[in-house]
Amino acid sequence: MNNYSYEDYIKLKDQLNIYRRQYYTEDAPTVTDYEYDQQYQALLKIESQHSDWITADSPSQNVGGAISSAFPKFHHDIPMLSMDDVFSKDEVKHSVERIEKVVNQKSLDFNLELKIDGLAISLIYENGRLIKGSTRGDGITGEDITPNIFQIEDIPKTISLKEHLEVRGECYLGKDNFAKLNEQRLEDGENTFANPRNAAAGSLRQLNSNITKSRHLQTFIYFIINPQNYGLKTQSEALKQLKSWGFATNEKNMVINDFKQVSSFIDQYQEQRLNLPYNIDGIVFKVNNFELQNDLGSTVKVPRWEFAYKFPPIEAKTHIRTIEWTVGRTGVVTPTAVMDPVSLAGTTVRKATLHNFDYLRQKDVRLGDDVYIFKAGDIIPEVDYVDLNSRKNCSKQYIEPTYCPDCGARLVHLEDEIALRCINPMCPAQIRAHLEHFASRDAMNILGLGSRVVEKLYDLELVKEIPDLYKLNEEKLHKVPGFKEKSIQKLLENIQNSKNRSLERLLYGLGIRYVGKTAALKIAQKFRDLENLIKFLKTGSDLNIDTIGSAIQNSLVNYFENDKVLIMINELKTLKVNLNYLSKNTIANSNDYFYNKKVVITGTLKKYSRRDLTQILQAQGAIVTNSVSSKTDYLIYGSEAGSKLEKAQSLKTPLISEEKLNEILQ
Ligand code: NAD
Repeated sequence: MNNYSYEDYIKLKDQLNIYRRQYYTEDAPTVTDYEYDQQYQALLKIESQHSDWITADSPSQNVGGAISSAFPKFHHDIPMLSMDDVFSKDEVKHSVERIEKVVNQKSLDFNLELKIDGLAISLIYENGRLIKGSTRGDGITGEDITPNIFQIEDIPKTISLKEHLEVRGECYLGKDNFAKLNEQRLEDGENTFANPRNAAAGSLRQLNSNITKSRHLQTFIYFIINPQNYGLKTQSEALKQLKSWGFATNEKNMVINDFKQVSSFIDQYQEQRLNLPYNIDGIVFKVNNFELQNDLGSTVKVPRWEFAYKFPPIEAKTHIRTIEWTVGRTGVVTPTAVMDPVSLAGTTVRKATLHNFDYLRQKDVRLGDDVYIFKAGDIIPEVDYVDLNSRKNCSKQYIEPTYCPDCGARLVHLEDEIALRCINPMCPAQIRAHLEHFASRDAMNILGLGSRVVEKLYDLELVKEIPDLYKLNEEKLHKVPGFKEKSIQKLLENIQNSKNRSLERLLYGLGIRYVGKTAALKIAQKFRDLENLIKFLKTGSDLNIDTIGSAIQNSLVNYFENDKVLIMINELKTLKVNLNYLSKNTIANSNDYFYNKKVVITGTLKKYSRRDLTQILQAQGAIVTNSVSSKTDYLIYGSEAGSKLEKAQSLKTPLISEEKLNEILQ
């Protein structure tokens, strides 16, 4: 540890910040919590030895991650903090003793609670009505997710208490609902969520509250702001009070002041965790008495009156049979360890992710090795470390593959990318992944055309490229083993329907590098017709669209310069696939912020005419009306807004300023 240089410290801090962005902002971690925790503890150790190195952006100085600009911001008057973690019973003992010393009391009462693996939310009630719901964000500024909070069944929308109340708790996705959701996503050919925590975060931080509703999120509420205002003296009393107000609370908590009991509480839930219907990742220790909590106070990052014991990851030993390389849509080739089946956390595991060749080399995984694999928080299993004692003398370091496992083309590293890529545009694995992407929900939304069906169609040479999808007929589909009359009709119908999708979906579905959903929508809105866009790109002029830079522009130019692409577009046109932006009657994306929302516009907006904005909102599936009523979901207001704004304020209709609107629509 003493050998760490300042440069090492900065590198570790930056790496942890990347993990935090992936975890908190993108809801898509690339390492397990266990690995993150290990690296974070290493950072804390360095910082304890070199306090002068600590930077303002160190994870030790900040709560959570950045907040998404897709949501209105919400300021937490009382910060939502993180928690100190410990990893052994000895450390638990030490933390308890440290707290007892500060408050100068022996055998202090702690309320022990399960640490629910979800994401923290805050709820505000006025006059007995739920009025606001937000995420933790960076602790000071969270995301206002009120419409979504209203979709969570177990959150009471009204309570008997008329005074102002703010409560906090954990929003989570039960294991059953998580499994169902991932099954459905697999069927629809979408990416699955890594674990219930990410699925919960992804479901709550949705721009369309109907999606949130369909996910069946649940909550456990465990915290009251200023509990003494309601005559409460202890955390255990607060939990009872929350329950009587109608909140969902977790019953598995206990006031303990003796270490033997602490130890058996930990053992009990460490063992039972797999049988609970929701994920937990540890036990939270809270000083039970609120007065003592106040005396102890908080640091900028954590309260001093609580800490968490984190469960060790669930681990098993197995044997590596082979390493499989999979080619994705963009040609990135990723390794997976194929192992002897082993039982881990209640499931039989045969594969573990190795991420990329650098990771494989770091872990020095070799064919025939015995390895320890682990799951932390039900994430996809990972190889933790190799059992070097059992490694055979003749074992050799794994060599980076040079050829694509699917098409045999030479693999490359683009610029200084870690990822290995196959850059053969005719690579079958890429073509299959590309077809799947074209059919996916956010693109042409062809239900029933997931990975398995695409693979069959490709292998039978029924579909080799996108236009072939539109040439499928009953006769061809009868050749697919397992396809019955009903599924054939359904698939043909879904393919036929997809011909009428709006241009942005087609643009996104083509899988042009850097052209994501938002860029595709902006381009479609500006050019309205794919042929217009292609003509314009030939002129070499700048697209001149806000937030679309040269990387996207160049990528579009390169893509549409290709003769094969132009032939394909012509074919799609002949096959009657729509190439226009459908401003009216567009098939809006149910992820859109304004999808199915009743919206009123008032006042003068700087950037939009009333007509243009109405069209943009309608394209997102909004119902734009003229007058404000209790059914209005949002009022968008510009300068010199008059009576409509007043009425909306009196009805507590959510308001959207032009600045906020720009953030939402970007
Ligand atoms: P934390 O998860 O360690 O603890 C604080 C949180 O615990 C609270 O905000 C609350 O949401 C939750 N909680 C659950 N049950 C609770 C209860 N009964 N009482 C009070 N709080 C309860 O802290 P954090 O800052 O939210 O997250 C840090 C953790 O997140 C890390 O330890 C790591 O495991 C994980 N993480 C993982 C990655 C990754 O890339 N895998 C990246 C960043 C963070």
